[in-house]
Order: sequence, then C-alpha cells, then structure tokens
Amino acid sequence: MEAHILIVDDDAAIRDSMHEFVEMSGYLSSTAASAEQALEALDNDNIDVVITDIMLPGMDGLELTDHIKKNHDIDVIVMTGYSGDYSYEEAISKGASDFVFKPVRFEELLLRLRRVLKERTLTQERVHMLEKLKKLSITDGLTKLYNSRYFYNQLKTEIERTERYERPLSLLLLDIDKFKEYNDNYGHLEGDQVLLRLGNVIKSCLRKMDSAYRYGGEEFTVILPETEGEESATVAERIRACVEEERFYPKDENTQVSITISIGVTEYHLDEDVAIFVQRADRAMYLSKQSGRNRVSCLFASK
Ligand code: GH3
Ligand code: MG
Ligand code: MG
Repeated sequence: MEAHILIVDDDAAIRDSMHEFVEMSGYLSSTAASAEQALEALDNDNIDVVITDIMLPGMDGLELTDHIKKNHDIDVIVMTGYSGDYSYEEAISKGASDFVFKPVRFEELLLRLRRVLKERTLTQERVHMLEKLKKLSITDGLTKLYNSRYFYNQLKTEIERTERYERPLSLLLLDIDKFKEYNDNYGHLEGDQVLLRLGNVIKSCLRKMDSAYRYGGEEFTVILPETEGEESATVAERIRACVEEERFYPKDENTQVSITISIGVTEYHLDEDVAIFVQRADRAMYLSKQSGRNRVSCLFASK
C-alpha cells in the first residue's frame, strides 16, 4: 500500500507545491493549513508521515509533533526557516524523525522522506517479528496450546491476583489413559493426532477466562481463575465426557477407537507454594487413575 503523507503549512503556495511534488513522487498526499486541521486529519485518515512547518498560527509545529508522538504511531518531519528560532535539537527531542530547512529543496525532502519510510517499514517488520517470536515461545508446536513455560508464568500471575483480592482459583491436570498402548497399537504419528484433537476438545469446553496448556507429553493443565473447586469439577466433567465421545480412526475408517482421560481437580489455598498447588492436582489425577481411570477426582487442602 502506498504511504500516506500529510503536509501541514499555513502558506497555501508552499502547501500546494509540496502536495503536488509528493503525489508526483508516488505517494498519497493530504494537506492541512494548521495544526488543528492536521489533528483532525490524523484521527480520520491513515497517515504514515506528517511533514509540518514549525511556524504555524495557533498550535505550532513542535507542539503538533509532541502531540503526534504521544498519541499516534506516525513519523514527523519538521520544516523551519534559517531564522534560528528553533533548533534541530528541539525538534528531535519532541520525537521528530528528521528536519529540513526552508525553502525546501524537493529532491532533498524526497530523500529524507524515503529514508523515514524505509526505517518505518523496518521497525514495523521488527515489531511483527518480535510478536511472532513471543507467540512461538509460549506455544506448544503440536497442539498450539500454550506450553508449560507459559503455564508456570500464568499460574504465578493468577496466584498473585488471588492473593491480592482473595478470589478463588482452580487448576485441572489431565492425563490420557493408557496412551502408551495407543502409540504401540497405532504408531506415534496417530498418537500425535490424538494429542492435537484433544487440545481442541479441551479448548472448546472452556470459558473465556480459562486457559489450557500442554503440560508435558500427554498431560494437559487448565487454569480456572475466579472459580471454586466444585464449579471447576463441573468443567472437568464436561471435558472428560467430550473426550470420551470423540472417535478416532487410526487404522482405517471401519476401526473406530475412543480414548479417555483422567482428571485431577484442586483449588488454591492462600499462602501455599505453587509447587504444592500443582502437586495436589497431580495427586488428584492419580486418584482418578487408581480408581479406574476415565474420571474426575477432587483434592482440596485441609484447612
Ligand atoms: P496411564 O493411563 O497410566 O496414564 O497410562 P499411559 O500409558 O498413558 O502412561 P505412561 O506414562 O506409561 O505413558 C505415557 C505415554 O505417552 C508414553 C508416550 O509414548 C506417550 N507420549 C508422550 N508424549 C507423546 C507425544 O508427544 N506423542 C505421542 N504420540 N505420544 C506421546
Ligand atoms: Mg502421564
Ligand atoms: Mg497417561
């Protein structure tokens, strides 16, 4: 998409000739006769770069720059005469990306504009890349659920909130039943398909504020903020039932296989260590295994 440049100058002759030049150079251009008009354009149009005179009636170009840098993601190039009323330092300290003297030599302005636009693109790409990396670093590659590193991060955050506001917080730990057998019978790749499907099933059973994680190989966790034990047991039961209803066809379309999971449920107790909290969920999950698998068990700390 071509860049959109806003030219701000109270002198109509300068404004119009710059507008024409910028358009001829292949950019989209708009004009404003004052800082106030410019602010209006910024709110309505998708501006990339503002080129503004410093001397303007009303709000001046430096105040405009200051305002833009505080409220928008837009680059600013300021123009000034040789009068010495304003300095390069002043403009840069307000956040301007570049500075040109009047009368403006169009060829020079174009070079500076191109450089600013280039840096702008690079910055946007860098921000985009960092966001992607951040997402990757907290995501499990197979299931696209969050990974265990992020689980501990989020659990810590939720515990802090729970401590501060004395709100309930619950945790589920889910483990696939006899999953080794499934892998042995149908192969590891088919096992991976089960993990992927389960991730989706778990997510589909959650409320907006709940979050699901791949905790380890075939184990998942779910954090339920603002939720007491009993209510989270209901969520756990919903997940258990949904998983049981799923059908898999690891061999051919006539061989229907279902799988089950065992779930442990527990609730956080004020002042306890994160590790104790997670261990209790794990113990609850083992209770489900011991009592026959495909079930939900709750363990709450004795007060
Ligand atoms: P239980 O009901 O007691 O949990 O039995 P289980 O067989 O599920 O438990 P066990 O801990 O003995 O085995 C876990 C199995 O999970 C072993 C391993 O092959 C499988 N597994 C772990 N991670 C992955 C994975 O990423 N992909 C696949 N396909 N299998 C995995
Ligand atoms: Mg396990
Ligand atoms: Mg298992």
